[in-house]
Amino acid sequence: MSAVLSVRDLNVRFSTPEGAVEAVSNVNFDVDEGECLGVVGESGSGKSQTFMAIMGLLAGNGKATGSAKFHGQELLNMPARALNKIRGSRMTMIFQDPMTSLTPHLKISRQLTEVLVIHKGMSETDARRRALEMLELVKIPDAKRRMDMYPHEFSGGMRQRVMIAMALLCEPELLIADEPSTALDVTVQAQILELFQDLKNTTGSQGKKLAIIMITHDLGVVAGLCDRVKVMYAGAFCEVGTVHNIFDDPQHPYSRGLLASVPRMDRPADERLRAIRGQPPNLQRLPKGCTFQERCDYRFDRCVAERPALLEFAPGRLKTCHLKGFAESGEVLK
Ligand code: SF4
Repeated sequence: MSAVLSVRDLNVRFSTPEGAVEAVSNVNFDVDEGECLGVVGESGSGKSQTFMAIMGLLAGNGKATGSAKFHGQELLNMPARALNKIRGSRMTMIFQDPMTSLTPHLKISRQLTEVLVIHKGMSETDARRRALEMLELVKIPDAKRRMDMYPHEFSGGMRQRVMIAMALLCEPELLIADEPSTALDVTVQAQILELFQDLKNTTGSQGKKLAIIMITHDLGVVAGLCDRVKVMYAGAFCEVGTVHNIFDDPQHPYSRGLLASVPRMDRPADERLRAIRGQPPNLQRLPKGCTFQERCDYRFDRCVAERPALLEFAPGRLKTCHLKGFAESGEVLK
């Protein structure tokens, strides 16, 4: 199966008055048709900047190098006009706060139909019919009446559904969702994630299944949704595996820490959640050795002296850690 998106040696650097910030370092991954990939990490880990770079949406002081190919077409440094043709139609992105993407003084119907008129050259009538279909697909109740309402007349969860509908209007092949449920309360969050579950079976305009990239700080979000997971720390992937690998047998101390900090149904009710101590490192002054060393309970001499590379330790499983790993009992293997 050919990759929808193929990223190689992606680096993102920001120039600031205090010096250069290496926000993303040597990131590599593929996303296949119909796949749901989870990218997990704390805020500031570089996950959002990775995808802003791919979408050509970096701030003016940011620069991306390396390669990001969408169906074999290089996106980095693609002229704005050509990139706009792909972005928003074949490859779309939704964000945590839908209000930043919706125009407050325009009715939802206008905002949705405009996308179809511009990208697909549809007539107003056809665009309106298609927009209504999409609002119904994302389960907006009474969609026919509500499509002529303004964004502020929708609840936070409903606005996020509108954004998802807008992202799907042109039948994209890739949908990138950056913390789409974080700003919502728990019940609405569950409904939005359920919606993503349904979208996994959506077929794009080329008759291909939609690929989804879910960016989140919350491992719970990827649990029931994603096929593969990439855990990101200090601008680089630190563990890569299937969702089962990461949940049932995490092998990087950071993944283990993330997992210990989220509630799980399969744990005793009285087990306490544990936060990872300390803060992520300053990306302007990364330590010489492992970037997680200041927060790691298992640090030893080699961790301080040498940065671990991302290496395969089992088929399809990679990590950046000098430890051999962890046994099922939790025992550390050196
Ligand atoms: Fe911890 Fe060392 Fe592994 Fe880094 S390399 S995660 S400091 S054990």
